[in-house]
Amino acid sequence: MNDQDQAIVIGGGITGVTSALALADNGYKVSIIEKSAGIGGHAMQFCCKATDQCNSCGVCLAKDKIMKAASHPGIHILTNTEVIGVEGEEPHFQVEVLKTPRFIDEYKCIACSLCYQNCPKPGEAIDRPYLYSVPNAFYINKEHCLYFQKGEECTICEENCPAGAIFFDQQEERHILKASAIIVATGFEVYDARKKGYLGYGRFPEVISGLDLEQRLLMGEDTIISKSSPGGKPRVAFIQCVGSRDPHISHDYCSRVCCKYAARMAAKLKSKCDEIDLTIFYIDLQKTERDFLALVESLKENIRLVKGLPVKIEKAEDSGVTMRYENIDRGCMERESFDLVVLSVGISPSVENQSLAGLLGINIDANGFFASVDLMDSTISSRRGIFLAGTCQGPKNLIESISHGQEAALRTLALMKGLGVNNG
Ligand SMILES: Cc1cc2nc3c(=O)[nH]c(=O)nc-3n(C[C@H](O)[C@H](O)[C@H](O)COP(=O)(O)OP(=O)(O)OC[C@H]3O[C@@H](n4cnc5c(N)ncnc54)[C@H](O)[C@@H]3O)c2cc1C
Ligand code: SF4
Ligand code: SF4
Repeated sequence: MNDQDQAIVIGGGITGVTSALALADNGYKVSIIEKSAGIGGHAMQFCCKATDQCNSCGVCLAKDKIMKAASHPGIHILTNTEVIGVEGEEPHFQVEVLKTPRFIDEYKCIACSLCYQNCPKPGEAIDRPYLYSVPNAFYINKEHCLYFQKGEECTICEENCPAGAIFFDQQEERHILKASAIIVATGFEVYDARKKGYLGYGRFPEVISGLDLEQRLLMGEDTIISKSSPGGKPRVAFIQCVGSRDPHISHDYCSRVCCKYAARMAAKLKSKCDEIDLTIFYIDLQKTERDFLALVESLKENIRLVKGLPVKIEKAEDSGVTMRYENIDRGCMERESFDLVVLSVGISPSVENQSLAGLLGINIDANGFFASVDLMDSTISSRRGIFLAGTCQGPKNLIESISHGQEAALRTLALMKGLGVNNG
């Protein structure tokens, strides 16, 4: 095997995993460089949104692919790893990576969680990325671990580990990887709703983000609805476009996913509790998929759709929160109380895009996503041999990210087979 037969995928979310699988299924060796402790990206934090029928949210499809990549012999997964330098040109890239220690050998760890159960600071000093993560192994966070912070006072996890998997002396590792092509699939950041102080996120427990609701439903916290309104009919509001279509914060683009995940989670809440009183506040619903249109139509019977967005959310005197909002259809300000408000936070470019673009020698666009230079093919970056895939190039849902990951892999295959591509 020479470097013409190898590719590097930066970012192990659903997009990067899809690209890696497509390349590896064609006989090429692929290394996935993932900066966090597990692959899967945001998709692993989402719940299935099926009610009594599948609502086509794409989550199960994404999780299946991620599990498949974990055991593919052609895919080498490097977690806790980042690119720190790129030398050479296509097809002879030399990519320098830095692997930071997780202090737990991921091949020895059997995920029994005894370390976690006995640690004085579980969830802070020791944790795993998510249940059944890939790799399914715990890691130690040096910043919070008493061994590192108080000098060998605590070795409880090591004493309790039946697999001898804990190594406090693990060091950083630097490697040079050779590759003929690189796919950038570093994804996005969820918009931080704290930036919109008037919405009360981070101050009022009754105000949560769409990602928080995804995680709670994934963990089976169905009580989120009944707890929110002790004894009464729970009143739940979804607020659309939080961090999207907003020129004041330089996010004037549509995130393309929030309407759909909000409508699907609203349907899920309704299926769990028929009593629930649901309202979606929006500016303009994205009605691009046939499945989604049918879902919105079916929701109209059960969910109030109000054209308007909040001006201020405040703590209510009794329980819950009070929201003041502009009702665009009625042309007036209104005030209503809710037990739970879900902010449909959108897709933001990663703050690290600028520095990674500098390392890779590629461009970013006006919004901060990696820039494609081909109007007909958005996987084409400004440098030959480097391709773009998924939400690092712009907002996409899971199915679109999977397609884009496949397209980037096809471009990469064509280049590696000497068929030529038009970037550079
Ligand atoms: C709240 C919310 C709910 C959503 N729900 C749905 C839904 O129900 N259905 C749907 O279709 N879509 C949904 N989406 C959209 C979905 O999240 C995206 O389509 C999908 O996650 C994009 O995958 P990705 O691989 O491009 O990015 P990501 O999931 O962000 O994965 C990127 C990966 O790259 C890694 N990475 C980042 N930088 C680096 C670096 N420098 N070096 C190495 N690794 C790096 C990250 O750690 C991560 O693992 C939702 C989005 C949001 C915000
Ligand atoms: S050394 Fe102590 S604090 Fe650190 S992870 Fe192990 S049990 Fe937790
Ligand atoms: S006790 Fe050891 S084997 Fe069990 S989860 Fe912790 S590190 Fe892994």
